Amino acid sequence: MKRFSVKGKIVLWLTVMMTLLSGLLLLFMLSASQQVITGTSMKQLSETVRRNAGQVSFSGDKLQLGERFHFYQSGVTTLVYSKSGTLLAGQPPVSVPAGAAFDSGELRIIPSEDSRYLLLDFWIPNGWESGVWIRGLLEAPENNRATQNILLVAAIAMPLFLLLAAAGEYLILRRAFRPLDTINDTAEAIGAAKDLSRRIGLPHGKDEFSRLAETFDRLFGRLERSFEAERQFTADASHELRTPVSVIKGACEYGLKYDETEEEHRETLEMIHRQSVKMSELISQMLTMTRLEQEMELPTMEEVDLGALAAETAQEFPGVGGQTELAEGVIVRGDSALLSRLLRNLIENAFKYGKPEGHVWVSVEKTDGEALLRVRDDGIGIAPEQQEKIWQRFYQVDASRNDETAGAGLGLAMVEQIARLHGGRMTLESVLGIGSAFTLHLPLLKKAKA
Ligand code: ADP
Repeated sequence: MKRFSVKGKIVLWLTVMMTLLSGLLLLFMLSASQQVITGTSMKQLSETVRRNAGQVSFSGDKLQLGERFHFYQSGVTTLVYSKSGTLLAGQPPVSVPAGAAFDSGELRIIPSEDSRYLLLDFWIPNGWESGVWIRGLLEAPENNRATQNILLVAAIAMPLFLLLAAAGEYLILRRAFRPLDTINDTAEAIGAAKDLSRRIGLPHGKDEFSRLAETFDRLFGRLERSFEAERQFTADASHELRTPVSVIKGACEYGLKYDETEEEHRETLEMIHRQSVKMSELISQMLTMTRLEQEMELPTMEEVDLGALAAETAQEFPGVGGQTELAEGVIVRGDSALLSRLLRNLIENAFKYGKPEGHVWVSVEKTDGEALLRVRDDGIGIAPEQQEKIWQRFYQVDASRNDETAGAGLGLAMVEQIARLHGGRMTLESVLGIGSAFTLHLPLLKKAKA
């Protein structure tokens, strides 16, 4: 059975069952029709013999047959015998063997040379001592011919019908199983060509195959994102880590060669330390982003009071301005660690790209249906043509900036990613030379709204 496909197995099973069923049905029909035919003949025989018996009378010892006595009627042969069994009247059919014992009123079947006969006797007494036997004979209905006909038709029609049914079943099953083939082909093609962008793309439906296809498509989507994130991570990591590594390497070589005093050694070591701190920050940022992207670490969603969270985070930055407005009771669903990370990135940027005597403000408020978390500064601002690009990974407006505070261009990409994970979005208003306002829009919790 293992050699057969599921389609083959179903067709085989149905065909076997149908064959059995039609065989049984045929047998039942044959036996029922036989019974009906025999029953009709018996009735016919019994009625005719009784009618003839009614026509038998005696005048003294003399037998008299009435006018309506028929020796042969509707296939029934009637014979009259003496008490001792001598034939008195009538002509028995040639093929019937003579000498069957008499038994009044008992319907019997006796074999003849080439078929069978139904037989019925009646004893008609004449006084105490004498009387005659009336015997009716009817050839048992030759049902063989009808049976043969039925069998012949069945022998031709049944295989044809079964073949047709099997073909129909196979076609229907093949059609029904086609989505499975599509799923299989797509999975194979993805495996062979390593093209993870392919999808099965069955039309939306509630049946098992559509759901299977959707599950596979989601799986392929995740695989694709995961591969893409891995590829991106490897590319970014090698690119971004090259700079600090070469700085450290250069510093070591220079220090080994030229540093003489303890002071000089210390300076070199400090530089190496700063670069390694930067490197480890970069690595941890990249890992966090990759994990979030691959959905390896799902955010733990809980009710978060945005005002309280902002107040707590802003405390870490003593420079955040006095005009900070934090509304109470702005509740959202979110991961507080991630949201606080988002806010920290924005505040750090506001200081990094602020003016020497600049200000930074944080505010939380709610509008209809939305919670807003805003970080505003009066810093250098961002040119309109840059405002789209700053959200990309590793994008920096002034890439030549290479002071100690310079990041790697991952901060805003992470901000955007966290906002997206929370079903929210970021907006930016900025004027070059005047300042910027970064706003996180999150859906408000319904309960909190009431
Ligand atoms: P990083 O700060 O590490 O360079 P980010 O992704 O945080 O990377 O920011 C990307 C770029 O957007 C920065 O290089 C900077 O040019 C610009 N930027 C971000 N925040 C501000 C801001 N508050 N004011 C002006 N420019 C900003």
